[in-house]
Amino acid sequence: MNDHPANPVGTGDGTRAVRAGLPEPVKNEPTLPGPVFAAHFHLPGEVSGPYAYGRDDNPTWTLLESAIGELEAPDREDVRTLVFASGMAAISAVLFSQLRAGDAVVLPSDGYQVLPLVRAQLEAYGIEVRTAPTAGDAQLDALDGARLLWIESPSNPGLDVCDIRRLADAAHARGALVAVDNTLATPLGQRPLELGADFSVASGTKQLTGHGDVLLGYVSGRDGEAMDAVRRWRKIVGAISGPMEAWLAHRSIATLQLRVERQNATALALAGALRDRPEITGLRHPGLPDDPAHPTAARQMRRFGCVLSFTLPSRTHAERFLRALRLVEDATSFGGVRSTAERRGRWGGDPVPEGFVRMSVGAEDPADLIADVLRALDAAAD
Ligand SMILES: *Cc1c(COP(=O)(O)O)cnc(C)c1O
Repeated sequence: MNDHPANPVGTGDGTRAVRAGLPEPVKNEPTLPGPVFAAHFHLPGEVSGPYAYGRDDNPTWTLLESAIGELEAPDREDVRTLVFASGMAAISAVLFSQLRAGDAVVLPSDGYQVLPLVRAQLEAYGIEVRTAPTAGDAQLDALDGARLLWIESPSNPGLDVCDIRRLADAAHARGALVAVDNTLATPLGQRPLELGADFSVASGTKQLTGHGDVLLGYVSGRDGEAMDAVRRWRKIVGAISGPMEAWLAHRSIATLQLRVERQNATALALAGALRDRPEITGLRHPGLPDDPAHPTAARQMRRFGCVLSFTLPSRTHAERFLRALRLVEDATSFGGVRSTAERRGRWGGDPVPEGFVRMSVGAEDPADLIADVLRALDAAAD
């Protein structure tokens, strides 16, 4: 993956991750400065300098924003990143700062489960919302006259993939901006800005921070004016990350390459171990060579994620399976170092079968995890 020879600190993802966003070393200071807890900053006389009030800026955010920017766009000086209190805060900041009454926006019909609520809110503000599925680049057919295209690839929880460059080119040809939800891939798996997107938006709650203890979101963008509007939105709404969360996120990014490498490799191995199970249908992981998403994923992704999904024959079968697992917690979210799984239908928001299970693979030893899953499948079959 040494495809960035210009990067002065090293060209590998592991090197980049451990050094991301670190300031120039200062004698007798820590390598990663601690969280700065400040509602306001000392500001004598005229208003000048970056830090005045804690809702607008914070030095701990600044370092984290540099770190994320270095991962999302290693070669681009013009990319700016803004961190938010959660993934939804970041998503809302882009949608509600860029769209006006009378505009049209194209959303995925199979995206994150809060998008239908977002849709209702956009429509209440007089914005036309069109939807189409992620698979087959179906959003292409809804682009005419749209102001913004929202892509989620791979989609959560269906794990479908679309051709981001193709969709971005088509959207730009019609004058639309393009945002990609990059949560599932992480910037080590996919760099939407290099594929033509104007915004890469993500929940840092998932694999980016990876310990299941922080809510965070971010927007990286290369259009200065659009990013000014996103920043203004953050100031207006105040959906800001606490300094402690921002610092924990930065500390966690140091191990991102290790976690992603381990978790994604185990996810692929587990998917391989599940493909011969007769009770499983609809097994999906973009890294499986015969997955319908694989050809496109292999072109635009550098790593395929730690999430897989499959369907068991019934709701009760899936519940028995989840109860029988020892190493995998029955919990929502994904990307953490501890494996989780859930019957997605329990939320009621996703168009999935009752026996549909989304599993997030953690950093356990692959043999232990695979044995646990196979044992739980056997137990659930009785
Ligand atoms: C979790 C998730 C979000 C929302 O992130 P929060 O940090 O929970 O607000 C958005 N998009 C996708 C794809 C997600 O998985």
